Parts: sequence; C-alpha cells; structure tokens
Amino acid sequence: MTLTKKVKKKEQAKQGMFENVMKQFNAAADMVELNPNIRKILAVTNNELIIHFPVRMDNGEVEIFKGYRVQHNNALGPYKGGLRYHPTIDIDSVKALAMWMTWKTSLAGLPYGGAKGGIQMDPTKYSQSELERITRRFTYALGENIGPEHDIPAPDVNTNAQTMAWIADTYMSTKAPSERSKNQHVVTGKPIGSGGLEGRDRATGFGVYLTIKYWAESKQVDLKGKRFIVQGFGNVGYWAAHFLEKDGAKMVGVQDAYGTISNEEGISVDHLFEFTKNNKGAVVGFPDSTAVVKEDFFGIDCDICIPAALGNQITEDNAASIKATLVAEGANGPTTVEAEQILLDRGITIIPDILCNSGGVIGSYFEWLQNRNGELWELEEILARIDKKIREVFRRVLKASEDKNLDMRSAAYFIAIERIEKAYIQRGIFP
Ligand code: GLU
Repeated sequence: MTLTKKVKKKEQAKQGMFENVMKQFNAAADMVELNPNIRKILAVTNNELIIHFPVRMDNGEVEIFKGYRVQHNNALGPYKGGLRYHPTIDIDSVKALAMWMTWKTSLAGLPYGGAKGGIQMDPTKYSQSELERITRRFTYALGENIGPEHDIPAPDVNTNAQTMAWIADTYMSTKAPSERSKNQHVVTGKPIGSGGLEGRDRATGFGVYLTIKYWAESKQVDLKGKRFIVQGFGNVGYWAAHFLEKDGAKMVGVQDAYGTISNEEGISVDHLFEFTKNNKGAVVGFPDSTAVVKEDFFGIDCDICIPAALGNQITEDNAASIKATLVAEGANGPTTVEAEQILLDRGITIIPDILCNSGGVIGSYFEWLQNRNGELWELEEILARIDKKIREVFRRVLKASEDKNLDMRSAAYFIAIERIEKAYIQRGIFP
C-alpha cells in the first residue's frame, strides 16, 4: 500500500465514526418519523470542549496535551459517559461516542443524557506519576463543565478505577471542606473504598455476556460448546469471556493491540488473563495457542464474535469473512454501516453496542445512586440488579424487532429515540 493510500485509509476510518452514528441516527429518525424539530436538536451536540493544558513531565520538561469533553444531549438527565486516553481520539470520534451514550442511556431507561471525552495520547508512554498529573490537570481544566448532577465521567478505553479516583479527589479538593463529600459522585467507576461499586469492574463484560445469554435463550440455543472469538482482552473482553466460559462456551481466538492468537481446542480465559499480567498485558506468546496474522482474526471459525476494543473494526473489507452467526458489540461502534448490511444480508444477528455494552453505564448508575444516598450495596445484589435491567431491555428490544420486523439495532434506536422525543414533546422548547 502506498503512503497516500495508507493516510487516506486512516482518514476514512476516522471520519467513519461520526458518519456512522449519523447514518444510524438518520435511518432511525426516518423510521420513527421523528418530529423534525427534535431531529434538528438531536443531530447536533449541545457542547463541545477542547482544552489544551500543560503538564510537567518526570524529566522536568513541559508537555501540552489536548483534552476533549463533548456533551451531546441532556434531555433525560445529567450528561454521562466515559473518558478515553488514546492517540487516535479527535473531536469527530468523541462527538460520535457522546451521541452513542445518549442512545445507550435512553435505551436502558436511565435518568441520564450522553457525553464522552478523553485525552489524545498514548498512555503507555507515560509513568504512573505523569498519568496522575495529566489526569488531575485535565480535571482541573474541565472545572465546572463536569459535576455530580451535571456531567459524570467514567472509565473507558485505557482509563480505570485509579484514573477515576484521581478525578474525584481533584474535583472534590476544589470544593469547600463541607461540600467535598457531596461531590464524590462526580465520576463513577471509582475504586471500592473510594465510593466505587462492587462489581463495577465486570459490569460491562457481564452485560455483554447476559445479552448473549438472553439471545441464546430466545433462539433456544445452548451456549455449552459454542465457540467464540474476542477482540480486546481488557475489562470488557476479559469479563465477557470469563462468564461465557463459565456457561461452557469455548474461547477459540483473541486479538489485542499487540497481536492475535487462536486455538480451536479452546483457550483458558483465566489462564490467559494470568499470563497477560506478566506479559505487559499482551496475549501473544500464550503457550496453548498459535499466533495468527492480524487480518485473519475475524475469519477464525466460531459461533460468536465479540468485538470489544475500538470502533470501526468490522468493515466492508472483512465482514464477508466472518464465520460467526452472532456478533455481540462489546465495543462502541465496532461495525460500520456498510459492514452491518453485509452481515444482515448473510443472516448474521448483531446485538448492537447500545444494548450489548450497556451493563457498564447501568453499573455506573448504581454507583451514582449508592454515593448519592450514602449506601453500600453488595456484589450479589448489584449483579442481580444489572441482570434484571439487561433482561428487561433485551426483551423490549427483541419484542420491538419482532413486532416491527426490524434488526436489533434499528429496534434499539427506535426505543431510545422515542423516549427522548417524548420528553421534548412533554416539555416543549424554551422560551
Ligand atoms: N465507557 C462506558 C461506555 O461506553 C461507560 C460509561 C459510563 O459508565 O458512564 O458505556
């Protein structure tokens, strides 16, 4: 491939994300015959913030970082959505991800709107103390653009409970002493002991697994012996795989940022997880597996495919090679609109991201409630509540897809957009 072609491809992938969400939105808006004025409102983001901020590095030099927070819509409640640290993030991808959060929280019936943010950087290049200073300075720069009743960030790609602890501490430190503890729920996904929710770490992956389980039940399919592949072995991919394996399914392929492995006899999820801990987080080199070239990952023979990494992974280039009959979108926006059409034409079911990975934000909601009400919930109770919520939402989407003869993404958008439309119609537009 020539350099120009490479650059063009990269640009296309980037553009794709916002284009993708807009194509999905426009199709859904046509389908629900969305009120034209509300369509205008939802087609744009409410606020877009780009912040450049300086941070002193360990070597004494100052580096300038670019941070984002996009607030798409808050008709149903405070803005909600994660922060990701990744070199490829830009305003368009953050806008797309913020929009997806609006549909996700609406579909789950949560009292939230949608937002997303992050910092354009490769976090593996920085020390822990640099990451702490970067996070704290970004939080300080965000100032009152976030807040426990206004905009509540959470973990996303390359951020975790530690990142959230730094954000909470920085935000709370800017308040008067008597106000500090009232602000703990400015972020969710905090460590247990700092206001975090038991099980929030596994909430997204658990939700992915549950949607697969409820799909299997609806089709009278037994998960025992079913083969799955997972792209991304972080929080989402690992936990989804962990729960699937417990139900007797077999992981036959894994891809992460460093490489791809497969074994048709099955790869032990927990052994691989232990292995990655001493292998800089990478899956390549796992003894009971063979290395596979990157491009062949989606073509690995299996029944269930779980993209649980970044957006725009299933494209026109690889959609025809997918062997699975079910694609469960653990990631946000992993399938392009064009690829989706290819999959649907081939009779492959897609559990859409806004349903499939909603266990995370549902867990976040429970954490937020726990902090707000000064309560402490137990793990079993939390997992049971996530299960109940996912089961209800899954059934609603399935029923809408059957009643209206729609694929699951269209059905999910139908429900999500209708709920927001209803709120606008009830309240009208100020002034
Ligand atoms: N980053 C997660 C997502 O994309 C969680 C967001 C949240 O809990 O606010 O859904």
